[in-house]
Amino acid sequence: MMIIAGPCSIEGPEFINLAIQLKKLGATHIRGGVFKPRSSPFRFSGLGKEALPYLHAAHEATGLPMVVEAMSAEQMDILYDYVDVFQVGARNATSTELLKEFGRQDKPVLYKRGMGQTIEEFLMGADFILNEGNQNVILCERGIRTFEPYTRNTFDLSCIAAAKGLSKLPIVADPSHATGRRELVLPVAFGALAAGADGLIVEVHQNPDVALTDGAQSLDLPMFEKLMIGARLYDQ
Ligand code: PEP
Ligand code: MN
Repeated sequence: MMIIAGPCSIEGPEFINLAIQLKKLGATHIRGGVFKPRSSPFRFSGLGKEALPYLHAAHEATGLPMVVEAMSAEQMDILYDYVDVFQVGARNATSTELLKEFGRQDKPVLYKRGMGQTIEEFLMGADFILNEGNQNVILCERGIRTFEPYTRNTFDLSCIAAAKGLSKLPIVADPSHATGRRELVLPVAFGALAAGADGLIVEVHQNPDVALTDGAQSLDLPMFEKLMIGARLYDQ
């Protein structure tokens, strides 16, 4: 089972110790934002190049693959030597020219569902990557926009089960961005695994209340430990 865990954004050297702790608790991949897509240009948008040494050190310390979002071909070039899996964010899920660029990369791609994509459009989006030659695509259901404001997005559980039937690609669930609330992350994660998800991507921070991005949905380490205990029950 793929368990991708880490902070929304890499904020500094503490990322390295967090990655070590996450590995001890069972993470198979480490995530960390370098260039962050934000809803306002006036909010913290990641450390950018300053985060690269921390990414390198975390990889050296854990040996785990690093999963990082790229939003342009230029960012793919900057990140290339530091990243093992490129993430396509929900905001770029329908940028077909960019998807083709991911399709020309020789690294796996985690493709997140766009907030307004139907299941069919989501799978057709993945085809833009596959069609350029890159067959290492991992789908990610991260919630879609609905009229419900209590949660950040609405997690589409049926997408997990449907994608397992419609596509050969693995699919992981992102209960962090789907719910926006850390107290909902574990139950939604377990629901996704019960529906057949091949893994999870979750945001974890050493001190979520002071996280620079997405603290409300970030687990602390004790919560991540509980998540791992439950997730093992679904590991075949
Ligand atoms: C993220 O993973 O931090 C992120 C921005 O996710 P999404 O593209 O799903 O909103
Ligand atoms: Mn985030």
